[in-house]
Amino acid sequence: MTTRASKPAVPGGQLTTLDILKSLDGSNCGECGERTCLAFAALVFQGQRRLEQCPRLDARLAAELSGRLGDPGERDWTGETLLRELRQRFGEVDLAARAGLLGGWMRDGRLVLRCLGKLFELDRQGGLHSDCHQNPWLHVPLLRYVRDSAGVPPRGDWVRFAELGYASNWVPYFSHRVLEPLARLAGADSELFCDVLELFAEQRGLAGFSHDETFLLRPLPLVPVLVGLNRAEEELPAEVSVYFERSAERNLDAESLFRIGLGLAQMFGRIAARHGLRE
Ligand code: SF4
Repeated sequence: MTTRASKPAVPGGQLTTLDILKSLDGSNCGECGERTCLAFAALVFQGQRRLEQCPRLDARLAAELSGRLGDPGERDWTGETLLRELRQRFGEVDLAARAGLLGGWMRDGRLVLRCLGKLFELDRQGGLHSDCHQNPWLHVPLLRYVRDSAGVPPRGDWVRFAELGYASNWVPYFSHRVLEPLARLAGADSELFCDVLELFAEQRGLAGFSHDETFLLRPLPLVPVLVGLNRAEEELPAEVSVYFERSAERNLDAESLFRIGLGLAQMFGRIAARHGLRE
């Protein structure tokens, strides 16, 4: 077996999935356990695999590139680079064939999906069109959802992020970047927290949960999110729990679920701040 040492043509700066892919052998040999080099590269970017796990990549090059990848929780989550990559190949997706499976419909050649109560239109190049300027962070998860979702309908089997086996690598980041900011927000002003969530919720108050307040949000048609709040009480601080439906594992990749949590937490924080909230 030969290892790849002579392909370091990766420019400086932050690595993208495409950069990682360019450094790999490209043979899709499967020795890493993934079916293709692209699948392996995507998992490396997401922090779920390490470059060193490709036996065909030179160890020194792997170490050098790994150093440049850094901590997945601290990467640029604006998604601009990822978006570029996703859109480059989005033309291969048959929107009309996917529409019904994904809970959407076609209008004038665009796929229409309802996300957080608003209509979003996706064109054939992966461009997103909407009157809503609050949530550009949905763009990457939405493209992946349209491209990859198995179209499995949610059945009310709610689990915490940490219980989704495929998301295990993202759990610390989800706690740090999603749950903790939401808990701080709720602790600073529970009423405002509830008012902000209600702006986006499909339903407030769901049976079967022990929380003081529950909100059902639907960032993607088949990927609902449930937020539960326990208000602060005597010595106990406010607590926020976030649940996904078990079918999320079939409908969206773990990184995109993290992105949705992060996007929601940041959006709620911005709106609360505009209403004068100081944490
Ligand atoms: S072992 Fe390396 S070369 Fe083979 S498929 Fe995996 S990433 Fe590609």
